[in-house]
Amino acid sequence: MSQRIVILGSGESGTGAALLAKQKGFEVFVSDKGAIPQNYKDELVAMGVEFEENQHTESFILNADVVIKSPGIPEKNDIIKALRVKGISIINELEFAARYTNAYKICITGTNGKTTTTSLILHLLQKAGLNVAVAGNIGVSMCRMVATGNYDYYVIEVSSFQLDDMYEFKADIAILCNITPDHLDRYNYELQNYVQSKFRITQNQDENGLFIYCADDELTTKNINLIAGKAKRLPFSYGSEVIPGGYVINEQFHINLDQNQSNQFNMYTSELTLRGIHNAYNSLAAAMVANALQIRKDVIREGLMDFQNVEHRLEYVATIRGVDFINDSKATNVNSAWYALESMDKPVIWVVGGIDKGNDYTMLKELVKAKVRIIVCLGVDNSRIHEAFASDVDMILNTSSAQEAAHVAAKMSAPGETVLLSPACASFDLFKNYEDRGRQFKAAVKTL
Ligand code: ADP
Repeated sequence: MSQRIVILGSGESGTGAALLAKQKGFEVFVSDKGAIPQNYKDELVAMGVEFEENQHTESFILNADVVIKSPGIPEKNDIIKALRVKGISIINELEFAARYTNAYKICITGTNGKTTTTSLILHLLQKAGLNVAVAGNIGVSMCRMVATGNYDYYVIEVSSFQLDDMYEFKADIAILCNITPDHLDRYNYELQNYVQSKFRITQNQDENGLFIYCADDELTTKNINLIAGKAKRLPFSYGSEVIPGGYVINEQFHINLDQNQSNQFNMYTSELTLRGIHNAYNSLAAAMVANALQIRKDVIREGLMDFQNVEHRLEYVATIRGVDFINDSKATNVNSAWYALESMDKPVIWVVGGIDKGNDYTMLKELVKAKVRIIVCLGVDNSRIHEAFASDVDMILNTSSAQEAAHVAAKMSAPGETVLLSPACASFDLFKNYEDRGRQFKAAVKTL
């Protein structure tokens, strides 16, 4: 009798998992506590996969041999507790996909920078003509790619929630961009649990693997000897010469992974398309991967110069009456807003706010004093922003829609300034998600 796989959650990851499981001959059942989006429902019907929505029926689920769960479902969920009591194996779709491919896996995790770094690596590998696919947290199921294609390389964005359900998965190259406190509600409010989870990106790596990490990141360096696996360690740094590794010193970008001088890669940071220190880190990590894969230096250089940044990440929107408008809606925590502000070289009208996840704004105060002239709050409750920055800027104004925020910011700005949407908060008070917030902001700017 074929094994029964139950898939909890029917978004992109769940539907992709159903596709691969079905193809591999499993008995497949999909269960979603909410409504299943129509496009995925159509796909499940077309595959002949049974499913239920708006409920989890225990009798259909607790008879599973293996459960593949969506990363969005927390351990405290009742059905997960019941599965744990029965000792049923729970994995995620990346773990499952990896069982059916021998492709080379480049995996990227970290609190911030995952999507940018993943997209840049993909760009470099594609430019080099490699047979490569992108997958994971970036929004494409790896199971779907394994089921429908035959790739030599996967560039996989991995969140900590995904890592929590991965056991035998082995990255050929693991990248840990950085670790700063986030999502602590899922980790019993213990930072070390979150750190442990991030380091799972290195689990199962052997001496042939590579572990690329940020030498300037305190939580990473503090824990690396405690937790990291056996892979060769390659650090990157902004300001310190790390060899073997990648670094920026005096506006020069260097990759030096081995003793062989002909492999070394150098360029000026002014030539990089991505701006700001945070993006220098992302560019270093991506260039190190490309260099390790022996991609030609002129290809790497060109790729770092012509990469188009991902939407909502320090995305240039328009210049109107001498004022630049930038959409950094993806900055949903304080750390990412810090990097956005840091990269600004003109006086800033800062559009900030939303759902405050217990933010500590202290680390932003110096930058705000130095760079921000006016704050435009975009949120339902802006009291914590007022409290944090009242003494640091000329004025703080409240708005409650993207349209209003764009108009107020435009009205208050002067030529030569920048209006920066970099909210440091989640978006769910006024918007569906950060993409919705970013798009509404861009649409409003275009009507100015
Ligand atoms: P993730 O996928 O990890 O959420 P993104 O690449 O989507 O990361 O970037 C999210 C936000 O974080 C962006 O607003 C960007 O300005 C900021 N950011 C990008 N890279 C870094 C980095 N290496 N360190 C800190 N912040 C970053």
